[in-house]
Amino acid sequence: MQISVVIPLLNEEQSLAELYDWIAKVLRSNSFSYEIIFIDDGSTDGSWNTIEALSKNDQSVKGIRFNRNYGKSQALHAGFLKAQGDVVITMDADLQDNPEEIPELYDMIVKEGYDLVSGWKKKRYDNVITKNLPSKVFNAAARKTSGVKLHDFNCGLKAYRKEVIKNIDVYGEMHRYIPVLAKNAGYYKITEKEVQHQARKYGNTKFGINRFIHGFLDLISIWFLSKFGRRPMHLFGALGVLMFIIGFIAAGWIGFSKLYKLYHGIPNTLVAQNPWFYISLTVMIIGTQFFLAGFLGELILRSKRDKERYLIKKTTYNL
Ligand code: UDP
Ligand code: MG
Repeated sequence: MQISVVIPLLNEEQSLAELYDWIAKVLRSNSFSYEIIFIDDGSTDGSWNTIEALSKNDQSVKGIRFNRNYGKSQALHAGFLKAQGDVVITMDADLQDNPEEIPELYDMIVKEGYDLVSGWKKKRYDNVITKNLPSKVFNAAARKTSGVKLHDFNCGLKAYRKEVIKNIDVYGEMHRYIPVLAKNAGYYKITEKEVQHQARKYGNTKFGINRFIHGFLDLISIWFLSKFGRRPMHLFGALGVLMFIIGFIAAGWIGFSKLYKLYHGIPNTLVAQNPWFYISLTVMIIGTQFFLAGFLGELILRSKRDKERYLIKKTTYNL
């Protein structure tokens, strides 16, 4: 199979049939072998009914339904697990991304040898104040912190070599930063392509004002990820060990010199009266806590990562 189109969606019933027709038309007229995977991220409208109906008419349509809303990153994760095509295309369900870009994206992966091609909505049809301006700031910050030179991290339309999506783990809220995850996993041939973008035709954006907060937290994670690879809590562990050693040496030195002076009858204040002794002990204790915090983080990460992070309620195919 040449192409898997992966589409995460939440309450997009008005767009789905139109989107499917458009994608299928483009893929068939280019005679691609393909599958279209819809991941219903807990919709409460008629989206799932539409997906079921589409999959009955066309074998290449596959639907996955979560038992509740888990977020776009989790939906992409489920789609990536299922995808079988050599090239995996992700796109939003709201008709803002243009399926006619797919053939060129496919060629960039297969013929030009890129691992990942990210869409760039150079001309963007969203609200300037709530979307375009903040995303300019975030993109600039993301470029700086991650070293991945993209103009538009958040674009839903992206193309991947299959190997890439099978070897990265899209967790938390990381869907905006998959290129950074790919780079960290050793896929360096990453580029962008200017893509056409339309205004949302039906319904409303699912990412409101809290995208600012999420975006900010994302940025911090990205900075950590790029600096400390896949193990950000090693920073705490290392800092903890360092503090413990400094505190230990300082307290030891103070204690030793006091004892030495006491033994040789040199006049000196008692250890118990030296504030630096207590400061050293405190540094040791804080160091131990930092180390334990890092250790706990590591434990949580290890035990959580490998488990399924969402519940699949239904699929249109046999699991
Ligand atoms: N989406 C999703 N789960 C969510 C929120 C959004 O699967 O919790 C889907 C949504 O249905 C759409 C895509 O993610 O297909 C992008 O969402 P949206 O268009 O609201 O984002 P925007 O274009 O405003 O950034
Ligand atoms: Mg949209």
